[in-house]
Amino acid sequence: MEKIKMITPLVEMDGDEMTRVLWKWIKEILIEPYVDLKTEYYDLGLVKRDETDDKITEDSAKATLKYGVAVKCATITPNAQRVKEYNLKKMWKSPNGTIRRILDGTVFRAPILAKGITPYVPSWKKPIVLARHAYGDIYNSVESKVKGGQNAYLLITDTEGNEVERKLIHSFDSDGIVQGVHNVDKSISAFARTCFNYALENKIDMWLGAKDTISKTYDHRFKDIFAEIYENEYKAEFEKAGLTYLYTLIDDVVARVMRSEGGMLWVCKNYDGDVMSDMVATAYGSLGMMSSVLVSPDGKYEFEAAHGTVTRHYYKWRDGQETSTNSVATIWAWTGALAKRGELDNISELTDFAKRLEKATLSTIESGYMTGDLIPLFKREGITPVKLESRAFLKKIAERL
Ligand code: NAP
Ligand code: MG
Repeated sequence: MEKIKMITPLVEMDGDEMTRVLWKWIKEILIEPYVDLKTEYYDLGLVKRDETDDKITEDSAKATLKYGVAVKCATITPNAQRVKEYNLKKMWKSPNGTIRRILDGTVFRAPILAKGITPYVPSWKKPIVLARHAYGDIYNSVESKVKGGQNAYLLITDTEGNEVERKLIHSFDSDGIVQGVHNVDKSISAFARTCFNYALENKIDMWLGAKDTISKTYDHRFKDIFAEIYENEYKAEFEKAGLTYLYTLIDDVVARVMRSEGGMLWVCKNYDGDVMSDMVATAYGSLGMMSSVLVSPDGKYEFEAAHGTVTRHYYKWRDGQETSTNSVATIWAWTGALAKRGELDNISELTDFAKRLEKATLSTIESGYMTGDLIPLFKREGITPVKLESRAFLKKIAERL
């Protein structure tokens, strides 16, 4: 076939270890034969990040601001052991953190559902998309140990340092602990708008939960900001699209989610999102089936898999052993990015291609061909699942594509 032409390049962010291996194969086997792929390539592999003093990460994020759509491979966030392993100049920061900071974005995580792979919560028939506020609360908190006999106050000063307000938090009879957390209206508002836009674009209901009955100022502020933005900017569009926006107590949201069939955007405060995203991901089966997209308030997109670089598989592959690593979430990063690029540039063939690639991938699994992580989860009458090695799985998808 004649290859599909692109107009604007995708920002391509290469990564590390097993996902770097899959990255190259996905392009070679599933994309380049059909698409005249145009990318601006940034190597975010740890070696290159170290070589460039991590400037490459910043450059790739800035390129995303410029072009609007990026596709990212999983990358190593270095720890002490990685500093030794790669002989690094420094323990570089998490690339995802750097990119998120520059894009000021929200991460949406959505499971990829295939027939035959039943979630641990059997009533969940549609994906639950989870949005986590990635600023403030306990993640930027100040904490202290307090001795018995001491007092802790909440103290607010003006720009000159004059006291504006002082509230006793607790008068300690015995040793204890205290914590100060904050958030800012600007960040909560940007988060709200990004979520409302996502729900509209994906035509799904949106649920927000917080603890406003107990936290009458702090959590209540989240409720109020969302409500105000909804009323003034989104209500009409939601009603037109037949969608609901629901605010309720976080406890109530959890109960509703459990008995729902899925299919909504679940908007979480920072800590709730941290915890609940792991629960939701596990309940849907495999980390290899969880996609992720970072969306900025002004509509820039960075698509990626939710999992990491799958280190254990990489060491096996490097030693020449067979691996059966799930490439689905990484394929979804590519299809998400290609479809979005097609939509923005009005190239329907490109968007259509991305949808076909997703369909081919799902039908490969649904007909019994999959990677090892899915085998114990797969149950479909009359089909005995076949475990394929990493590259063979991609080839199998290509046959259908
Ligand atoms: P991980 O790479 O997600 O892997 C954890 C385990 O989950 C794997 O050992 C594997 O289990 C299973 N798994 C994950 N993805 C899989 C896939 N696609 N197919 C099959 N099995 C899969 O997490 P990690 O081991 O905590 O982190 C490894 C590296 O990734 C770290 O250096 C970390 O910094 C980085 N990381 C990057 C990102 C990102 O770039 N977004 C996110 C998380 C972690 P078995 O070994 O039992 O098969
Ligand atoms: Mg977590």
